[in-house]
Amino acid sequence: MFIDKQQVTGRFAPSPTGPLHVGSLVAAVGSYVMARQAGGLWLMRMEDLDEPRVVPGMADDMLRTLEALGFQWDGEVMRQSRRKDAYQEALDELMKRGLVYACGCSRAEIARIASAPHENGELLYPGICREGLPEGKEERAYRVTVYDELIAFNDLVMGHYSEILTASSGDFVVKRADGPFAYQLAVVVDDHFQGVNQVVRGADLFTSTPRQIYLQTLLGYETPVYAHLPLVTGPGGAKLSKRDNALSLAEGRDLATEGGGLLVRALRFLGQNVPDELEKAGCREVLEWGVANFDMCRVPRVGGEFG
Ligand SMILES: [Zn+2]
Repeated sequence: MFIDKQQVTGRFAPSPTGPLHVGSLVAAVGSYVMARQAGGLWLMRMEDLDEPRVVPGMADDMLRTLEALGFQWDGEVMRQSRRKDAYQEALDELMKRGLVYACGCSRAEIARIASAPHENGELLYPGICREGLPEGKEERAYRVTVYDELIAFNDLVMGHYSEILTASSGDFVVKRADGPFAYQLAVVVDDHFQGVNQVVRGADLFTSTPRQIYLQTLLGYETPVYAHLPLVTGPGGAKLSKRDNALSLAEGRDLATEGGGLLVRALRFLGQNVPDELEKAGCREVLEWGVANFDMCRVPRVGGEFG
């Protein structure tokens, strides 16, 4: 029998653009119980690259809130805003190999040529600048060249998925010329650097996964195991109002009293059969129940309201 002795390393990687909310709590709980159930590490990363959207002090507020909810992470908190040299190094490597080129197109120019935008509002880039920046154009972004090959993976929740990047995103942006590195590049460089081999996160990132796998392949990184968790929505499937669902200590939530109940609700949202007597239990007790009893097969593919 083959026994995989590789250490499982999971992570939780929120963006400090607003308080922790019930949607991010579900991702925290899911990633935590899966990593711990495997006897693995659970790392914390603040995805604070999008500086105009980052709220000062919010990263620390999120960490205090998570601590109050009984979460314990391993090692130092990684902050993407301090990792720009690593992203630049990866970008240089791709450029040196001729896999990245400068693009001078505006969104409006792309929209005029591209077919209808995808569900997530992204446009398929038609490759205008592939052969060089057209005359009179300034560099707006750097794009990685994609090929006509099928990128497939098995998601622990969503099942098998495959995509051909030339038909879904086209050559995609890895850095804005005058701005931040793209999420797709940063997340891949960080997961590799931190040894993350189990990515458990919200289904809103499901369709970015093939682009991340493609970058992993180009950079010679291992591809982690993925599990995309169902999303919490507002009433009738509406987008979750993050303000109404904030869990910040700073907003006066008494997590010492209601934290255990919130964690029970998060586990039940993930399809778990949590006994009623745990509703009044403390946070650590609920998390420990989750680590011992979490069953991936029970996680629904479709989200809904936070019950
Ligand atoms: Zn272009």
